Amino acid sequence: MSYTYNFDDVISKLNEYVSKKESYDLIVKAYNFMLEKHDGQYRKSGEPYSNHLIAVAYILAGLHAGPTTICAGLLHDTIEDCAVTFQDIESNFSTEVAYLVDAVTKVTQLSNINKEDYLAENHRKIFIAMAKDIRVIIIKLADRLHNMRTLEFQKVEKQKQIAKETLEVYTPIAHRLGLNNIKTELENLCLFYLNREKYLEIEKLLHTKEEERHDAVAKMEEKLKKLLDKNKLPYKMSGRAKSIYSIYKKMYVKGRDFSEIYDLQALRIITNTKTHCYEILGYIHATYRPIPGRFKDYIAMPKPNMYQSLHTTIIAEDGEIFEIQIRTKEMDEIAESGVAAHWKYKENKGYDASKEQKEIEEKLHWFRDFVALSDEELQDSDAKEYMNVLTHDIFEANVYCLTPKGRVIDLPNGATPIDFAYKIHTQVGHTMVGAIVNGAMVPLSTVLKTGDVVDIKTNKNTGPNEGWLQIAKTSYALNHIRKYLMKQNVAKNRDDLILNGKTYFEIACRDDGLSYNECIAFLEDEKNKKILSFESIEDMFLAIGARHLTAGNITNKIKQEKKKEQQVVETTQELLNKQKKYNKTDLNGNNLGVIVEGIDRIAISMAQCCSPIPGDPIVGYISKGLGVKIHRHDCPNIINEHKRIIAVSWENEKDDSVLHAVSIQVKATDRPNLLMDVINAMSQLKISIQSINGTVVDNTSFCYFDLNIKVKNLEHLKTVMNAIYNIPDIISISRLTKN
Ligand code: MN
Repeated sequence: MSYTYNFDDVISKLNEYVSKKESYDLIVKAYNFMLEKHDGQYRKSGEPYSNHLIAVAYILAGLHAGPTTICAGLLHDTIEDCAVTFQDIESNFSTEVAYLVDAVTKVTQLSNINKEDYLAENHRKIFIAMAKDIRVIIIKLADRLHNMRTLEFQKVEKQKQIAKETLEVYTPIAHRLGLNNIKTELENLCLFYLNREKYLEIEKLLHTKEEERHDAVAKMEEKLKKLLDKNKLPYKMSGRAKSIYSIYKKMYVKGRDFSEIYDLQALRIITNTKTHCYEILGYIHATYRPIPGRFKDYIAMPKPNMYQSLHTTIIAEDGEIFEIQIRTKEMDEIAESGVAAHWKYKENKGYDASKEQKEIEEKLHWFRDFVALSDEELQDSDAKEYMNVLTHDIFEANVYCLTPKGRVIDLPNGATPIDFAYKIHTQVGHTMVGAIVNGAMVPLSTVLKTGDVVDIKTNKNTGPNEGWLQIAKTSYALNHIRKYLMKQNVAKNRDDLILNGKTYFEIACRDDGLSYNECIAFLEDEKNKKILSFESIEDMFLAIGARHLTAGNITNKIKQEKKKEQQVVETTQELLNKQKKYNKTDLNGNNLGVIVEGIDRIAISMAQCCSPIPGDPIVGYISKGLGVKIHRHDCPNIINEHKRIIAVSWENEKDDSVLHAVSIQVKATDRPNLLMDVINAMSQLKISIQSINGTVVDNTSFCYFDLNIKVKNLEHLKTVMNAIYNIPDIISISRLTKN
């Protein structure tokens, strides 16, 4: 079949619906401009490049496209191939023509990228570029149709790539726009290039069956004509063959046998009005037995691409099965060229691109979803996700449900109230708790049917759960549920990981013979912060729990640090030993004035718990590795120790050369100025107070305060305590021992 046209063919097509001279002037100008720019360029077939543009204009004229669209069709490759600029077209024609050519060029450039990895990303970009204006899609489809018709001149590899892209991008959109003729031709061409063997096999099957089929159809036609004539109904009747591609799909995708495909024998009845359609159906059903479940009323409930028709399948007397389609002439036009038939160019009616786009979005709800999808959210997300939502949720939507306010929500087969909720709004999905369908509360897993009125109940304190992933059907809902759960898991996980980390750390401490509490105290100690290298202990547990770090790693470091400390102690001891110093100095060499009886050389230090001062009865406690600790003899911390206690004494019980810290606790009857009196007494004795902590005992008149002061020796301390005791309202005074 020849797909070569000349410009006169375009003009004669235009004559069918264009009469204004200025329209022809514009189109002729575009034709001449294109001829000049593409001069010297040839297609792979060897013909002048301009043939492609004439063919595209011819296809567009066949769809009764407006003069602007025809112009843009003629010029659609000038920016891409002829170094023509947007401004060139704008100044020679109009901004609108330039805009269309520019948009088509962007889609073309995207199609030229050929990398498997980028396919989804690329397809997404093509859809987004096309969603901007319906005319861009129409021009692109005409362009692709001619390229597919002339694909034989490309290399095999390129043929397959283009055919694949056509099936994935262009045929679904042609189908959704109801451009049935273009869609069918494209599909058949794709099959021819992608699976020639099957294409030829089906073509042959059709051919051998043709005569047989023709006879049966002719017989049925006669019978129906008689039936309709008798009842004085207007009609036009035609036989109809299924496309090779649709048979291929039924045979190889749905696994049916060629002979099983009923609608090979099909008749189409075109009549005048909607009422005639139903009347004709009534007479046919009254005469022939319809196959149950095969009757479809697309007049009352049009397909998303605006397709309207009555479909029924009947059994003839001889057992032959026929599919019959009944529709009006207008419906038939839409069935063949969908959106193009609906919006075909009407002269004297100003074209308003944004108005038309809006009208299309109103008539084709899916197109509104398509534009919205291409505009927002998913544009920045994963390309595969976009393609999933587009192909499954939008292109495959064929269930139409309603909100209580009557808004139509398109959903794919098997969709549930969860999908419905997400389709309304992500937030509605996230907060849904129940659904009322046609007035009755239903389980969330209920499969929705066309015509269902769905009222979603929400509660903002709840959220999706894992179970929803089994119930939701649309990619859109699934993506949002997954994202929500992922965020939740991150928060929940953190707590779990910290808990695990803590457990691992406790185990590691035990294995290394360390006390967990000591280790924590050690890590929290400011001077050990660098070992930890975390902001907090919690962060460390998190790192351990998340297995970025092992608990043993930390306990090892603690052990090493402790060993270093130990070495410092041991070195100091050695030093002391070498110096053969007397044993009354502490680790820093300060004279503590204590004699360890019977031992010359040993490191000693004062216990912090009971803070002995010269004059106190004292004992020595031999600590592990830290020499002898000096305690008061009645210190509760050593009172039960016997083996490690050795006798010690003060060198001079009245030594007043050093100030020693002590803690005392005062009990008193609370009154105004009590604390002031205590402080005054101290200052008269020239005692410096390190700190005071007062507490009033609830529901009593008593109060306690702890005083940290420095004194020279026991005698000095007794003077201080007496002075306090003499203050009115003091009940008792005692030395404090820390645990
Ligand atoms: Mn082109």
